[in-house]
Amino acid sequence: MQSVKQNKEVEVIIVGGGVVGLTMAHALAIHNVTVAIIEKNEFTEQISDGRAFAISDGSKEILDCFGIWDVIKGTVGNINEIRVTDKDSLFFLHFDNKLIGSKPLGYMIESAIIHNALLNQVKENRKIEILAPATYSIVDYNANGVRVTLSDSTIINGKLLVAADGKNSKIRELLGIYAQKIDYGQTAIVCNIRHQKEHQAIAQERFLSAGPFAILPLKDPHISSIVWTERDKLAPLFAKMDREELNYHLAERFTDYLGKIEIVSKIFLYPISLTFSRKYYKDRAVLIGDSAHAIHPIAGQGYNLGLKDVKELVNLIIRNKKLGLDIGSSLLLKEYEDNRMFSNMAMIGITDSLNRLFSNNIAFLREIRSLGLAAVNKIPRLKKFFMEYAMGKEFKL
Ligand SMILES: Cc1cc2nc3c(=O)[nH]c(=O)nc-3n(C[C@H](O)[C@H](O)[C@H](O)COP(=O)(O)OP(=O)(O)OC[C@H]3O[C@@H](n4cnc5c(N)ncnc54)[C@H](O)[C@@H]3O)c2cc1C
Repeated sequence: MQSVKQNKEVEVIIVGGGVVGLTMAHALAIHNVTVAIIEKNEFTEQISDGRAFAISDGSKEILDCFGIWDVIKGTVGNINEIRVTDKDSLFFLHFDNKLIGSKPLGYMIESAIIHNALLNQVKENRKIEILAPATYSIVDYNANGVRVTLSDSTIINGKLLVAADGKNSKIRELLGIYAQKIDYGQTAIVCNIRHQKEHQAIAQERFLSAGPFAILPLKDPHISSIVWTERDKLAPLFAKMDREELNYHLAERFTDYLGKIEIVSKIFLYPISLTFSRKYYKDRAVLIGDSAHAIHPIAGQGYNLGLKDVKELVNLIIRNKKLGLDIGSSLLLKEYEDNRMFSNMAMIGITDSLNRLFSNNIAFLREIRSLGLAAVNKIPRLKKFFMEYAMGKEFKL
């Protein structure tokens, strides 16, 4: 029998130290809630995972509220225009920030930069107990709390368990919460490229038959992040090509509108699937971020949705704490689910439909797409609606 190593008492236990789990830990701690965060990997600075996040204006406000925006703002690039085109079509959709004022339509930040900024905040906050690298072996719930036993026998007691352990969430599985999974048969090839001409803060989304090809402007006006969606079978073949050959295939899709291009990072592959949970809570555990909804990166919204989950849950926890109420009660968790599920499902619907509508070469659908893009482009109110939605504005029924 293993001996009990230590007992730790906190209010909230978070499993998963990705960007969403770290944001949650930080946001709770700055509101004086004690937290333990359990992460299976070592908590060291991330070098790069290739991804760059498009952050909506709504997410900027959330990060600002948590004191993170000030830390990262010097490394953030703006998105002032978005151009959406369909393969071989003359029609394209053009979103320009001037249509809605002077604010950028969104912001771009490399995921490693935001991850490291959050990690530094978390490491500095004494309200947060970091348990990494660590794995848990048992999770017990009772009427008053939750107890997590780590593999080294450390016991952590809390009032609420927050699962931020990503799309293959083990906590979700242990809770027996059903998650719907849809494999798109697509893999994203992700890298940074340098281009001869400046990108002028313009993001491009090209719908090619294998999937969307996104060109996202980073802070450096000569560097863009590429999310090139390919069929599962082809993506690893592209990734294995020598740089010259890969550059050729990339340039074919990129075209020469920014002059000569060159890959300046490692190549990363991300298999793409949709996973969404049918419930967001059970017992004293609650799902946030990709553990609740891992969506297609077509609209760059995964972390944005995770931030809205964090904001909602943190507000409810603080409210209950102030009122002396249970922060892990099923009433609170139901309120969280009620307030987040509709909005998350709406974004799931949009990203899933966009991908299905555009990732093919069917002539009839090509016609509909072209007409659709042209129609949206011609109706300013509709255009404004899409722009504000992408900027993080909530539309409730
Ligand atoms: C190519 C690509 C481009 C994207 N672009 C954008 C974008 O532009 N904008 C945007 O908003 N979103 C974007 N996303 C989505 C975004 O990356 C995710 O939504 C976000 O990273 C989810 O964060 P998370 O913390 O919920 O999950 P994860 O990042 O998956 O983190 C989960 C964490 O839990 C840990 N963990 C797992 N299991 C355990 C365990 N048993 N015990 C302890 N720890 C555990 C993992 O090690 C990991 O650290 C993109 C995604 C991809 C693939």
